[in-house]
Amino acid sequence: MKVNYLDNNATTMVAPEVMEDMLPFMDTLYGNPSSMHTFGGQVHKHLNLARQRTAEALDCSPEELIFTSGGTEGDNAAIFAAVNSQPDKRHLITTRVEHPAVLNTCKYLEGRGYEVTYLPVDNSGRLNLEQLRDSLRPDTALVSVMYANNETGNVYPVQAMVEVVKERGILFHTDAVQVIGKFDLSMRRLPVDFLTLSGHKIHAPKGVGAMFVRKKAPFRPFILGGHQENGRRAGTENTAGIVGLGRAMQLAASDVSKENKRVAEQRDRLEEGLLNSVEDARVNGDRRSRLPNTLNISFKYVEGEAILLTLDSLGICASSGSACTSGNLEPSHVLRAMGVPFTHVHSSIRFSLSRYTTEEEVDQVLNNLPGIISRLRAISPFGRDREPQAAC
Ligand code: PLP
Repeated sequence: MKVNYLDNNATTMVAPEVMEDMLPFMDTLYGNPSSMHTFGGQVHKHLNLARQRTAEALDCSPEELIFTSGGTEGDNAAIFAAVNSQPDKRHLITTRVEHPAVLNTCKYLEGRGYEVTYLPVDNSGRLNLEQLRDSLRPDTALVSVMYANNETGNVYPVQAMVEVVKERGILFHTDAVQVIGKFDLSMRRLPVDFLTLSGHKIHAPKGVGAMFVRKKAPFRPFILGGHQENGRRAGTENTAGIVGLGRAMQLAASDVSKENKRVAEQRDRLEEGLLNSVEDARVNGDRRSRLPNTLNISFKYVEGEAILLTLDSLGICASSGSACTSGNLEPSHVLRAMGVPFTHVHSSIRFSLSRYTTEEEVDQVLNNLPGIISRLRAISPFGRDREPQAAC
């Protein structure tokens, strides 16, 4: 069965150009980039090229980049850099809708005596700038706000937020994992101290990423050992992965607006088609400020898992709002923070498209999903007459 992959916020296919660039580093070019010999030096040159390409895509200097194992490491490294370099500051600010890589790191720090303010969001998942301003304290070590949410696709006003925070001389980190390749980011214009990105969300492989650390930002290495990455991230480099990331960053930056316009048109066609053909469907998130590729939609009276399994039997890959983050049946913390009603949280599905998504793939969902929903509603324990009362 042909796979119809509409789960690109979870991970993406490795682009053919990326794969082609990476292959020699798993075959003939296996030298250690730290070695003194010419063979190692050749590999080192390719790491430099990947750093240069990533820097160009982010409009920053190559020295401001550290290659990592991905988004989770970057988020951890930024938060620990901020707290470890300012031991007298014991307060952090983040949001209720961050990825677990940020939320669980903050929870860990709470267990070590730090205070964390979790900014709330409204019913559309929007943050309030005034609430951020009011939460800033003289002992705030870091504000960490994601650029865009992986579940709803909501895009946050990071530019405005960072300006408010920098006025007070406080460090700012943004998890930009879902935004790279969808918006043009310039580190010259966006005055964040730390930014995290991940390869596997932008058609590079899993297990590689990068973080931007502004020249003047305090940094303490999160992984200790050898001198790699200028002594800021120890461990022999994932050379194939880094080369792939560099190429993927270059590809992502080359066609941002053209590709995303097309992706947004496909997403909008999917959204309109489903809203017009399925009763009691609603979009979760801020339709005015959203990633071009993401649609989070609830179909009241049916379980998201049942929809996913039926789609899966047709080869269609998507995610559900009740199990996607944890692998258990906990409802999504993002939709709960937005106050989405119980019936809608449990019936939510996330479709996330990519530049490889075709019109036929969108058609396949539009042709099948309305029928799937009516069949599931007919047999659902959450049927219209038996709506559950619990709130979450
Ligand atoms: N941050 C966000 C917003 C994400 O969507 C993800 C991955 O789902 C991560 C961080 C973690 O990235 P990685 O899988 O590269 O560790």
